[in-house]
Amino acid sequence: MNAPTSTAVLAPTVKLLIGGKFVESKTTQWRDVVNPATQEVLARVPFATPEEINAAVASGKEAFKTWKKTPIGTRARIFLKLQQLIRENMGELAALLTAEQGKTLPDAEGDVFRGLEVVEHAAGIGNLQLGELANNVANGVDTYTVMQPLGVCAGITPFNFPAMIPLWMFPMAIATGNTFVLKPSEQDPMVTMRLCELALEAGIPPGVLNVVHGGEDAVNAICDHPDIKAISFVGSTKVGTHVYNRASLNGKRVQCMMGAKNHAIVVPDANKDQTAFGAAGQRCMALSVVILVGESQKWIPDLVAKAQTLKVSGGTEKGTDVGPVISCAARDRVVSLIERGIADGATLELDGRNPSVPGYEKGNFVGPTIFSGVKPGMSIYDQEIFGPVLCLAAADTLDDAIEFINANPNGNGTAIFTQSGAAARKFQEEIDVGQVGINVPIPVPVPIFSFTGSRASKLGDLGPYGKQVVMFYTQTKTVTARWFDDSTSSQGVNTTISLK
Ligand code: NAD
Repeated sequence: MNAPTSTAVLAPTVKLLIGGKFVESKTTQWRDVVNPATQEVLARVPFATPEEINAAVASGKEAFKTWKKTPIGTRARIFLKLQQLIRENMGELAALLTAEQGKTLPDAEGDVFRGLEVVEHAAGIGNLQLGELANNVANGVDTYTVMQPLGVCAGITPFNFPAMIPLWMFPMAIATGNTFVLKPSEQDPMVTMRLCELALEAGIPPGVLNVVHGGEDAVNAICDHPDIKAISFVGSTKVGTHVYNRASLNGKRVQCMMGAKNHAIVVPDANKDQTAFGAAGQRCMALSVVILVGESQKWIPDLVAKAQTLKVSGGTEKGTDVGPVISCAARDRVVSLIERGIADGATLELDGRNPSVPGYEKGNFVGPTIFSGVKPGMSIYDQEIFGPVLCLAAADTLDDAIEFINANPNGNGTAIFTQSGAAARKFQEEIDVGQVGINVPIPVPVPIFSFTGSRASKLGDLGPYGKQVVMFYTQTKTVTARWFDDSTSSQGVNTTISLK
């Protein structure tokens, strides 16, 4: 936690949302929310006290009593309204997001928009939360299922998509009849709070959506709270593994979407125009390793030339391709990994350290950086860099490239660039990664499907949004029913397990 500066004392405070009211925390622990392009302190975020976290969960528990019985149409209409409010406020939301997170304005709109798609999906909950029925499973017996909400659910989100990821979580949880406690990233909670304000304006009743702020202590309190039934986490592998283990031991349903190292294969017949520097590399689905197969290894100078054309500047500047990374610490980490890459023997083809960014001299900038000759065992390959650093590796054949990717522990996303249907199909069949792009660099599925990262990038069986999340946020209850009409004559008492 950083000590409040004189500016920070004047900066507005981020509120908690408990029982339908935005309230000031009584905590003594605060952290500055800082514009990563300028270091301006935008706000102060509280680290909620244990009493405040308990109050948020209690308000969700109380609200669940009525919310779980609220008709599907009433629930769905709130999300119809919310999608409209998000569209109407898109410009403001994107500007807030860019100010606190750093990504460019068009990319910030993309962040909000990908979340908006989940809100639209939640508005169709009437078609998604359907049970099954089998007629006459025995004489006069029908069996059917109902998908019932769980109770109070919680969401813990990372800094890199402060609009999209909260919107992956609370709309689907609430649309399925649960109540929710959200713990946004303490690095950029402001756009998340604005979305929550819009959600209340759209008609979410008091207590159905609650927000607490904080870091490790708040997360551990959520993992331990007996009244929280399920947790959706998105963030790093280290923290996600901790959350999964701790909350599972407490009997909760948990899904954790975690770190990544996404590889692309470039086959020589591919279209050259692809790079991976959007959002300063701070995307869980960004391509961070490109494997050049055969002749495509000759493309390195073209890739470097293309990367050199990318404009590094504040996210609000027109034409910016690469904004700042989230914090000074994040920048120092990326720079030290670049230094380790050089020491480990990779070839630095393009050096993005210390870029000159006129007008943003204090910003946390790292320019596009490219290494070639990258191999497993080097830190730049083994660690998630989370900055605009592209690692190039080489393979003689497509088979070698597939083997290279399958040997990496992560399974979030991957892509192939080729004009050959046969190569693409082979890749799709043999690659052991949960989300595959064919000439699509960032294959994040739209919400009628589910986000399906795999292996070390995910813990828990069910993903966020899509059909899978309806399963995640509901308990299937199976009812076996026999109704006798008055004329049914008794055939004696059935004491066996068989239905007759
Ligand atoms: P993070 O793991 O540091 O933080 C995520 C959340 O955990 C935050 O709310 C934070 O307050 C909390 N937290 C941090 N340290 C904690 C601790 N020691 N104990 C308990 N809680 C703690 O992640 P981040 O840096 O905010 O986000 C970047 C990471 O998220 C990257 O690894 C990225 O790949 C991953 N990510 C994954 C996906 C996906 O869908 N797989 C999507 C977005 C981001």
